Amino acid sequence: TETRIIMDETAIRRALTRIAHEILEKNKGIEDCILIGIRTRGIYLAQRIAERIQEIEGKPVPFGELDITGYRDDQDNGRSTGINSSTMLTPANLTIRNKKIILFDDVLYTGRTIRAAMDALMDCGRPEMIQLAVLADRGHRELPIRPDYIGKNVPTSKLEEIEVRLSEIDGSDQVNIMQH
Ligand code: 5GP
Ligand code: MG
Repeated sequence: TETRIIMDETAIRRALTRIAHEILEKNKGIEDCILIGIRTRGIYLAQRIAERIQEIEGKPVPFGELDITGYRDDQDNGRSTGINSSTMLTPANLTIRNKKIILFDDVLYTGRTIRAAMDALMDCGRPEMIQLAVLADRGHRELPIRPDYIGKNVPTSKLEEIEVRLSEIDGSDQVNIMQH
């Protein structure tokens, strides 16, 4: 396996700072916005952006976590069977109705996870709008989904894989591309 670094700690920090500013610019502030991270690493990205926005704007941004295990459409086990949507979005008292949701994930690939995330969210209430932020977009979409905020575009072959390391769980910040 051949590994190449495509983002180091500094590059990740700069990309997240840029995305925080892009979110503020696009939404003309942070009024009515909720940042929602998709388990696992999307949660840390949303958390970091929430911290930066708080530093820039001086006010807190509502923040949540989404676990969409069971909603994926490509596991061939019957979609969302037996899943209680109220257990997927935390904190449980988060109200997304009429809010602007900004979804965070680490890597965007076929788009199926984001479609599932949007399904899960819609079951929790009707947001005014959903936007998407990803640290790396590796291409190969199978659905008409495109991110509003991108850390880095990383054209990949289907044989390659992106490794996202975040200090909160991986001990360091780095994005690598791995050729199997
Ligand atoms: P998709 O559903 O768009 O095909 O894949 C995106 C989801 O799978 C994301 O939640 C992401 O974490 C994971 N994923 C897909 N491809 C990669 C990859 O190359 N590297 C990593 N780290 N995650 C990936
Ligand atoms: Mg993931």
